[in-house]
Amino acid sequence: MDALGRHILVEFYNCSPELMNDVVHIENSMVAAAETAGATVINSTFHHFSPYGVSGVVVIQESHLAIHTWPEYGYAAVDLFTCGDSVDPWVSYNYLKEAFEASHGSSMECRRGQQSLLKRTNFTVESRDSGQPVRPIPSITRDVWFTERDENIALSLKHSGNQLYKKQSPYQKVEVFETLAYGNMLTLDGMVMCTQKDEYVYHEMITHVPVLSHGNVKRALVIGGGDGGTVRELLRHDSIEEVVLVEIDELVIEACKQHLPETASAFGHPKLKLLIEDGIKYIQDTPDGSFDLIIVDSADPVGPGEGLFTADFYSQVYRCLTSDGVMITQSESPRFNTDVFVEIFDTYKGIFGQDKVHCYLAAIPTYPTGTWSFSFCSKGNVHPKQFNQEVAAAFSREQGLRYYNEDIHVAAFALPNFVKDLLASKVL
Ligand code: SAM
Repeated sequence: MDALGRHILVEFYNCSPELMNDVVHIENSMVAAAETAGATVINSTFHHFSPYGVSGVVVIQESHLAIHTWPEYGYAAVDLFTCGDSVDPWVSYNYLKEAFEASHGSSMECRRGQQSLLKRTNFTVESRDSGQPVRPIPSITRDVWFTERDENIALSLKHSGNQLYKKQSPYQKVEVFETLAYGNMLTLDGMVMCTQKDEYVYHEMITHVPVLSHGNVKRALVIGGGDGGTVRELLRHDSIEEVVLVEIDELVIEACKQHLPETASAFGHPKLKLLIEDGIKYIQDTPDGSFDLIIVDSADPVGPGEGLFTADFYSQVYRCLTSDGVMITQSESPRFNTDVFVEIFDTYKGIFGQDKVHCYLAAIPTYPTGTWSFSFCSKGNVHPKQFNQEVAAAFSREQGLRYYNEDIHVAAFALPNFVKDLLASKVL
């Protein structure tokens, strides 16, 4: 290329004023516009002005994309600057025109750093400052962050920038990042599902609490759980005769077998029956009283998992449980997803009965707010606090568990008052 970079100055007109004031949509669109053009996103920061208007920049390995919006005019001024020729900024232009619902745009491309006008200096890293030998730059020179956020809260994890896995399935975007603090991390549609360093918390608590409370689980069903961690923990219990895993998306299993092998270590187990299908349909076709334990190891109530948070679905689960069967669900964060949390517990009580539904908590650092909840719903008389503590203690020791033990089992059901108040509150 005869220039160091291409800089396109863009004016988008007659955009949707609402979209021009939607900071989350604008940031997601700018990041996606960069990625679609083949750029590597290093970081992004966006600001929502009061009373309206948004400014932001996406730093890419190949330079940057920047924007400022005037919702009151349905107008956006955008800068697309790329170095080298691996990224075509016009791809980002077309992506953003769509995303902002602009009726038309005008643009001007400038070639920045015309080679013919530039003379290379003898600048090298070493000679930059004082001529003092500079400390060698650490191997990871890129400052790349994965961020999961909603309007007000964000969780960011630094990663190596090497995207280990990235595929769009018919249901969701399946990605694996190599984070520096938590090892490889599986995300679905930009939401953290599990990381190598803390997945055991979730998987030990969603399994051993019900199995050791029930005391005689023979057949267990897991809906979702494509990372494999839940079935791995269930299959530690020799008393269990069969575990059925119903996962809708085989790419999740593929990604975890490749990049989270410890989590996906039980997919070859002889007692495991793996079905790639929609759990909602599977449960409808399942005979009454088929399972002692049904674990709904779903993602959040969006996309393919939305239907796993409905009264219809839970009623089907109730029907498929044996007379003393237990349903366990991941029931979101009482602080991050408060409305969903209150609503689903209300739904559980409507199906299982007021005193048959129990909430327990666990500390999961890479989940929003770090505090996550589970529901323990009993069809018969199994009660989560009436379990054999010696058996639980021995099991935890023999299996070398890293989170679950007999004390945590009891403590997890000790709820802070704000959670008790939420559970007492009625969905209006
Ligand atoms: N621990 C995670 C969490 O709390 O967010 C959940 C992990 S697991 C990866 C969630 C799985 O549910 C995903 O693999 C997703 O594909 C699967 N899933 C979503 N909807 C489903 C459905 N209707 N039937 C079966 N599996 C489903």
